[in-house]
Amino acid sequence: MNSTVFSVKNRPADQRILDFDEISLGYTREEAVQEAKRCLQCPERPCIKGCPVNIDIPSFLNALSRGKIMEAYKIIKKYNNLPGICGRVCPQEDQCAKMCVLGIKEKPVNIGELEKYVADEAEKNLKVKKTRPDKNKKSVGVVGSGPAGLTIAGEMASKGYPVKIYEGLHKPGGVLRYGIPDFRLPEKVIDNEIERLKSTGVEFEMNCIVGKTVSMEELFELHDAVFLGTGAGVPRFLGIPGENLNGVYSANEYLARCNLMKSYNFPKYKTPIKIGKRIAVIGGGNVSMDAARMGIRLGAEKVFVVYRRSEKEMPAREKEIINAKEEGVDFVFLASPVEIIGDKDFNVKQIDYLKMKLGEVDESGRKKPIKISDERYSLHVDTVIIAIGTSPNTSHIKDYADIEIGKRGIIKVNKDTGQTKMNKVYAAGDVVTGNETVISAMGGAKRVARSIRKVF
Ligand code: FAD
Ligand code: SF4
Ligand code: SF4
Repeated sequence: MNSTVFSVKNRPADQRILDFDEISLGYTREEAVQEAKRCLQCPERPCIKGCPVNIDIPSFLNALSRGKIMEAYKIIKKYNNLPGICGRVCPQEDQCAKMCVLGIKEKPVNIGELEKYVADEAEKNLKVKKTRPDKNKKSVGVVGSGPAGLTIAGEMASKGYPVKIYEGLHKPGGVLRYGIPDFRLPEKVIDNEIERLKSTGVEFEMNCIVGKTVSMEELFELHDAVFLGTGAGVPRFLGIPGENLNGVYSANEYLARCNLMKSYNFPKYKTPIKIGKRIAVIGGGNVSMDAARMGIRLGAEKVFVVYRRSEKEMPAREKEIINAKEEGVDFVFLASPVEIIGDKDFNVKQIDYLKMKLGEVDESGRKKPIKISDERYSLHVDTVIIAIGTSPNTSHIKDYADIEIGKRGIIKVNKDTGQTKMNKVYAAGDVVTGNETVISAMGGAKRVARSIRKVF
């Protein structure tokens, strides 16, 4: 491996588990410039194709390699409204960095970390310039303030269109706020991006559930187009006995109680959380890693991630698996839960599972887990967190037959325009794709913004 590769350091595991602060120490200026200099400025620019919003990566790296941070920032911002967020959470190893030619022989350029560096440094020098939308232009009502909603709002507001975001929760950001913990994505980074949107005149109505607080009909009267960026927030469960016991959480509820409601600071904040001593987190994705690491920070003595395939098949990012291990999370692989068992007061006391082996590759592209026998094994735990995926909630559009709903509740749209079969209604993000990524939700919302601007 090239000795000039600059890896990013984290805070030591034994210190970072004592608080909720960001674990990455990030680059110093010198390291960032040196890492940017590793870019070969390839004429074919393959990395750009790997980025769902097609950031001009070689150009921003070139500016950074010359120490021109604001120039680099401006290049990134042309394509990506939320660089401080994407730089932190993008699974770049499957996207831009996967396409980086340096990856053939050594480590690819650490594009995400450099994007984060540029965004954070630029933030220190940014002067917020207030702009106002042109009230004579057509307006967009945006349902949901996750990355999809924030992106379309930014895209439309920057061209002078009035935008209002309707959000059911009391704080904006969607999963960025309530799902991804502060130790990966500090709240301040989200707040800064939201403030910038507000400075372009985007209005926010919080605690407003479309379908309850306001109806879709009201939005149609108020706006010329309605964008649905409502995500996929309804948790799936395993369908095994015992899921209704005290001490069983969906990962979304568990994380939202901590991230959004600050329940770890109860009673200063009003929402409580049961702080388990021994926790089993079911599932092998990023959400599972977040819940497990949150459990460690809340003070659990033991946290097990229970996954029915082997480590190799885990969908979580490798770096998050490493972080979880460093922080003391244990893994039980090839284990498929069959029952959660409670005590006489209906509190969780154990989870039973069957041991699995791997068979042929299934439709998910991974080897199918097959039970070895009916023999049960037990983990003695007082808390079980289910992190096996989520689906969209589309109850607010159930009366609109023209908005087609597909498998697992996703909204069907024209893939080029993001338009539903209902004239004024568009959608993007997890509500269209199912569980995906921040940057794919943003990419989808950008496409919709382009198609709305064409008809406005
Ligand atoms: P969301 O972020 O879900 O936002 C939807 C918003 O709509 C929510 O705020 C919701 O309250 C609101 N809403 C829903 N219905 C209504 C209604 N009727 N009225 C008003 N408001 C409504 N992706 C990554 O790229 N990297 C990661 O590291 C990563 N980690 C993750 C960790 C966790 C714990 C989770 C849960 C997801 C993670 N993801 C990650 C996935 C990523 O966060 C999502 O793909 C992305 O947030 C989807 O964006 P969205 O805007 O479509 O929806
Ligand atoms: Fe890579 Fe994500 Fe940044 Fe695009 S937004 S360049 S995919 S880290
Ligand atoms: Fe630079 Fe890698 Fe992109 Fe080539 S592929 S331009 S080395 S970031």
